[in-house]
Amino acid sequence: MIQQLLEMDIKDFRVLDALSQVPRHIFLDEALWSRAYENRALTIGYKQTISQPYIVARMTEHLVSHTSKRGKVLKNVLEIGSGCGYQSAVLSYFAKDVFAVERIKPLVTKSRENLSKLKIRNVIFKHADGFNGWEEDLKFDGIICAAAPRAYPEELLELLEIGGKLVIPVGNEGQQKLFVVTKKSNTENEEIIHEEVAFVPMLPGISNGEV
Ligand code: SAH
Repeated sequence: MIQQLLEMDIKDFRVLDALSQVPRHIFLDEALWSRAYENRALTIGYKQTISQPYIVARMTEHLVSHTSKRGKVLKNVLEIGSGCGYQSAVLSYFAKDVFAVERIKPLVTKSRENLSKLKIRNVIFKHADGFNGWEEDLKFDGIICAAAPRAYPEELLELLEIGGKLVIPVGNEGQQKLFVVTKKSNTENEEIIHEEVAFVPMLPGISNGEV
C-alpha cells in the first residue's frame, strides 16, 4: 500500500509513516481483510465506505503542509464524516486532540470500538451533523471533511484559528474537486482548488442507521 502511495506522489514521509502504522483491516469486516491494503474505498455498511488510503494521505498532507516539523503539529482538528474512524486514527498522529463528527449512529459506535482496539485515546467521537461544526466553543487549527457539500459551509471557516485550514471536497457527484481553504485573517481566506475527487455527499441531519 505504501509503495502505491509513493507511486501516486504522496511525498510527505510523516504521512506515509502514519499510514503505515494504522492497520486498515481493523476497520473492516473480516470478509474484506484480504483487500484491506489495496488502494480502494471499501464498504463499511449503511451505504458508506472507508476512504481510499490515497485520499486520506493526500488530505492529511494538505492539512500539515505549513510545517515540516514532526509529531503533533496541530492542536485541535475537527473531522467531519468520520465513518469507521480510519482517517481519525491517522489524524491522531498529527493533532493533540481530534474531534470527530459522524451523522450515522452505528458508525460512531464502530469507530469508538476501532480506536480503542488500537489504543488511540486522543480522538473524541460525536453523533452529530457536521454542518453544525462541533457545537461547542472550540477553535480548530484544521478541519477535514470526508463528505462533499455542493459549496463549502462558510460557517466552518469561523471555527478556524488564523492560519488554520479547511480541507474539503466540494461539488455534485461526478464533478467534485478538493478545496483547501486557509484562513489568512478574520477577513481574508485563501482558496486553492486541487484535483478531482469522488466522495459521498454531505447530508444534513443525523441518522440512527436506517439508510
Ligand atoms: N473518514 C472516513 C470516511 C467515511 S465516508 C474514513 O476514514 O474512511 C464519509 C462519511 O461522512 C459517511 O460515514 C457519512 O455518513 C458521513 N457524513 C455525510 N454527511 C455528514 C454530515 N453532515 N455530518 C457528519 N457526517 C456526515
